[in-house]
Amino acid sequence: MAHTQIEAAREGTITDAMYRVAERENRDPEFVRDQVAEGQAVIPANTNHDALDPMIIGREFATKVNANIGNSETTSDLEAELEKLHTAVHYGADTVMDLGTGSDLDAIRETHVDHSPVPIGTVPLYEAVKRAGSPAEITTELLLEIVEKQARQGVDYMTIHAGILAEHLPLTDGRKTGIVSRGGSIVASWMEANGEQNPFFQVYDEICEIFAEHDVTFSLGDSLRPGCLADACDDAQYAELDTLGELTRRAWDHDVQVMVEGPGHVPMHRVAENVERQQEVCDGAPFYVLGPLVTDVAPGYDHITSAIGAAMAAQAGAAMLCYVTPKEHLGLPDEEDVRDGLAAYRIAAHAGDVANERPGARDWDDALSEARYAFDWREQFRLALDPDRAREYHDQTLPEDNYKEARFCSMCGAEFCSMRIDQDARDEGEMESLTNEEEATDLESSPAAEVNRPPVGTHESGDLPSAIDDSDERSVEQFGDD
Ligand code: SF4
Repeated sequence: MAHTQIEAAREGTITDAMYRVAERENRDPEFVRDQVAEGQAVIPANTNHDALDPMIIGREFATKVNANIGNSETTSDLEAELEKLHTAVHYGADTVMDLGTGSDLDAIRETHVDHSPVPIGTVPLYEAVKRAGSPAEITTELLLEIVEKQARQGVDYMTIHAGILAEHLPLTDGRKTGIVSRGGSIVASWMEANGEQNPFFQVYDEICEIFAEHDVTFSLGDSLRPGCLADACDDAQYAELDTLGELTRRAWDHDVQVMVEGPGHVPMHRVAENVERQQEVCDGAPFYVLGPLVTDVAPGYDHITSAIGAAMAAQAGAAMLCYVTPKEHLGLPDEEDVRDGLAAYRIAAHAGDVANERPGARDWDDALSEARYAFDWREQFRLALDPDRAREYHDQTLPEDNYKEARFCSMCGAEFCSMRIDQDARDEGEMESLTNEEEATDLESSPAAEVNRPPVGTHESGDLPSAIDDSDERSVEQFGDD
């Protein structure tokens, strides 16, 4: 019996997960099977993750968004960690990476897997550093032990920093910001201290065998991603990418699913080049990108600088976007930052899907535009990417209920509302009236994938256990690997 989705797909079998994914994406199950068989898409679905509602990541499907959560040395609390998972899923995360570095990591990881309907990703290297005491003390045996344990716990995908090689390190010497990937800096310091090749690279085939047994998907880490515009697209970044291409093919030889991580900080005019190069070097394996940030000058607004790059990457063919919050480079994000980061990235993902003319993707836009032009404020709020935010902003100036029927808002005011003026002119003059209920967009029958229809995200989070106690003091921690 096939252990992995790619193995089953190659044998010609359409698995239950593929049928479910086809339903959620409104695609032919045979097309899903073919994309998985060819390595062009992945279904991260550890055989031990019973609560999972399967989803797919691939350039031919709706663009997905990842959110990072996790504890730290200062706060480690099972309830708080569950609340972070709840928050991320509620605001639309398609996958969640648990990047915890505090205590109780096993209990927290197992609780996340037990309760999460979305795939859970991890970075095993972080636990290895904690267990070893310092990067230099890590051993290949320890890495394999941790990878195997997390695979048994049900983790769906793992970032493995196997692509950074000893011969790549001198290529970073002229950089402005060196090695900014947390995992990359740890592996580099290990190689410097031990005088050996990357430990993940040394035991890569053993990791493949573990992944094949539990159907864990590789997320091949981009340890040498640029940390600033000046370092983008340099020899170090592209040398590692070549290795990631080789590692992709080696994993496929073991019937293991693969996606590849990407930058970082890249100016707008080179975003598409990055995606196209990864697709070529890695034979179409899904590209999972962090941002990229398209300028370095806006700390405090890096959810915006990066969402611009993320939208461009999505249009160019990136399959999943790792969100960035306004606190990037500055500190741990709180719940409001997570909300803002996920909103920015859901916008980027949806904008990419509209630009790529994914089936039905624009129907959501059309339905909201029709509600807007009809001054159907309640419907406009309901269809909004963040309904609570839309209603809250409208209520700030026009809170009374009768303004939910008004043919204006406070932006232009009653006299200068252009949509009201336009409608009156059409009613009274020669221009055609645009109100035609028969042509209204029917979202219920839209062919759009779930992620391209309201409510935002792929899951109702009502069924998730909530640890929310109405305390605003608790922070939702998130770690960018940067
Ligand atoms: S007042 Fe201006 S912003 Fe408000 S609904 Fe009318 S046109 Fe739109």
